[in-house]
Amino acid sequence: MMKALQKRVAGPGLELCEVEIPSIRPDQVLVKIEMAAICGTDLHIYNWDTWSENRIRPPRTVGHEFTGRIVQLGKDVVGLREGMLVTAEGHFTCGRCYYCRTGQGHICDDVKILGVDVDGIFAEYAAVDAKNIWPLKEDGDPAVGAIHDPLGNAVHAAYAHCLTGQNVVITGCGPIGLFCVALARQAGARRIFASDVNDYRMDLAKKLGADYVVNAKEDDLAAIVHQVTGIGADILLEMSGSRQALASGLDALRKGAAVSLLGIFSDRVDMDLDGVIFKQLTLYGINGRRIFDTWFQMEAALEAGLDVSPVITHRFGFEEYEEAMALMNSGRCSKVLLLP
Ligand code: NAD
Ligand code: ZN
Repeated sequence: MMKALQKRVAGPGLELCEVEIPSIRPDQVLVKIEMAAICGTDLHIYNWDTWSENRIRPPRTVGHEFTGRIVQLGKDVVGLREGMLVTAEGHFTCGRCYYCRTGQGHICDDVKILGVDVDGIFAEYAAVDAKNIWPLKEDGDPAVGAIHDPLGNAVHAAYAHCLTGQNVVITGCGPIGLFCVALARQAGARRIFASDVNDYRMDLAKKLGADYVVNAKEDDLAAIVHQVTGIGADILLEMSGSRQALASGLDALRKGAAVSLLGIFSDRVDMDLDGVIFKQLTLYGINGRRIFDTWFQMEAALEAGLDVSPVITHRFGFEEYEEAMALMNSGRCSKVLLLP
């Protein structure tokens, strides 16, 4: 038996319960979880929003961001060893659809998500498809291993553009926006403008290397960017899912600029499309992580010295999960780890 944080009934909350250690399929490995990280998705499931109500079928062990060690190999698994320190891509792709067969598995038609559609990793052990395992360096920080999934989102969004020498605007300084600040700094951006409405997160953006941190409630991001650059920014990374942030981010751009849209808008967005046309902007929708192109880019960025450790602000034991979720709901944190 093992401890697991499960959604037992359709409704708010989670339960720390004793369940059986999962048995693995021949193409899976059993991982002993050493560190887990809480994602916004886990918080949605905990709070039980409309998306969760439509998607989650209890009982379900939640969580998908982790570092762990392989303790058992399915009989068909090759290329992995017991004892390996690993994390995993949490999207299990079908391998058969048009997208999977054209190297675009990140937009698979029949994706299953760890901790959403199948049992996840807020547990002492988890069964994970071997093809999704990403081995970690033994001498790396295991806490950074546990945040590869959201860091990969940031890499996917940021590396859609050459950031070197560019004026980059990042709207939203949640964990993923903060990763973008660090990536833009490492890539040699000329100036980084970051915005949020939360002082705690704005302070972290400064720490990670943003040159200008704007409180979107108090100051006019677009006016500041135009004043500093004289022409407008070259790139917008939209990491908030806020309509106001998108509008001010687009206003901050020069003509011919490019945009990555990663933040998810809970409602339909009215936007100034004529502005996009007359400014000749290029908009990129960013979904998940390219499998595994983004992972290799992330590994390279980390090996070259990318330091995202300041984004990890809190650690809790599994039994303190209520406190951890309350802190996540308060917004006075960035990445929160759960230790089994
Ligand atoms: P988060 O909710 O922690 O961060 C969003 C930040 O935006 C918060 O700090 C919030 O204070 C800030 N914000 C709110 N209003 C703002 C405004 N007007 N101006 C500037 N900032 C504002 O989320 P996260 O985990 O960092 O993820 C970022 C976004 O990306 C979320 O919307 C999330 O749902 C989405 N997401 C998308 C994908 C994808 O595949 N596209 C994957 C993961 C997450
Ligand atoms: Zn597919």
